[in-house]
Amino acid sequence: MVIVGSGPAAFTAAIYASRAGLQPLLVASSVEVGGELMNTTEVENFPGFPEGILGPELMTKFQAQAERFGTEVEVEDVVDLDLEGPVKRVRLGAGTVHECATVVFATGSAYRKLGLEEEERLSGHGLSWCATCDGFFFRGKTIAVVGGGDSAMEEATFLTRFAERVYVVHRRDTLRASHIMQQRAFDDPKITFVWNSEVTAVLGETAVTGVTLRDTATGEHSDLTLDGLFVAIGHDPRTHLVHGKVDLTSEGTIAVQGRSSRTSVDGVFAAGDVVDPHYRQAITAAGSGAVAALDAETYLSALASPVLTDEAEPSTVTSEDDVALASTT
Ligand code: NAP
Repeated sequence: MVIVGSGPAAFTAAIYASRAGLQPLLVASSVEVGGELMNTTEVENFPGFPEGILGPELMTKFQAQAERFGTEVEVEDVVDLDLEGPVKRVRLGAGTVHECATVVFATGSAYRKLGLEEEERLSGHGLSWCATCDGFFFRGKTIAVVGGGDSAMEEATFLTRFAERVYVVHRRDTLRASHIMQQRAFDDPKITFVWNSEVTAVLGETAVTGVTLRDTATGEHSDLTLDGLFVAIGHDPRTHLVHGKVDLTSEGTIAVQGRSSRTSVDGVFAAGDVVDPHYRQAITAAGSGAVAALDAETYLSALASPVLTDEAEPSTVTSEDDVALASTT
């Protein structure tokens, strides 16, 4: 089994698969092992950590637990997948190709960013992409949410539980959000809409102190003083490696059958944010990773005969020619 990804879904799949004796190989990105939680500070809603835990620390624990049972972690980028037939091939950036009988695809989703230079620096310091994760830190504060879709309305409405005032900054004068979500936000006395405005700068050296807005109708600039900024302008599942190889939904996530993790291709399973356009929580991703490992295990035990070479472990070859030579039974 090869697991692609390194967030809560991928590592949970690895924990389950390795405890089942499948000796999975987990290919984490060469840029960052641990997924979106590596960009979070305190995680207070992951069960089992009543005092909270830092996002990166939580992911270190996920990895340690997976490795304890025999998961091998390779810090490399997957650049190509051959998913047809009983033997799947996973090609890495350095040229290595891993053969396996099953793939769990758990590459997550990326929050859309504003594209501003200061976004990276202030992330986790008043700038957030997740109200559920970070809203609690803004009790009695003045904050803004950028976006005009359901996510922005949901985040803004949720944040009024904590914040004193929530501005919704939207680049047009009509919302994309569903009627019911819009109405809920309009009816909330703590929410103020800032129309026809785009954020051109996030202010603050070590923490967010405000934003500079550009009026999209007049082109004029103005500053808005804030304690925090939430960006909710959508997110994109990371599916580029499987485009044209597995079926996607109309929302762009990988299509899975019912509540399972089974994709349109036999032996290929998907879990976490890459299949989930709505919940996108560490705990839901972890649960989905467990489902994928169990589904993969069922798939493997149903195979009539071994599909790999003589070795019990996935074979590793180093060039395309070698792949052609690798025999399968
Ligand atoms: P979305 O519907 O694509 O909306 C993104 C919003 O962000 C749009 O208003 C867009 O403006 C704005 N935007 C995009 N890029 C921007 C940029 N660079 N700068 C400023 N603004 C930008 O995304 P979403 O709200 O995340 O929703 C995604 C899907 O999940 C939708 O199908 C939604 O219905 C669903 N969802 C459902 C719920 C729920 O039912 N509880 C909750 C959340 C999400 P424009 O309008 O001008 O394009």
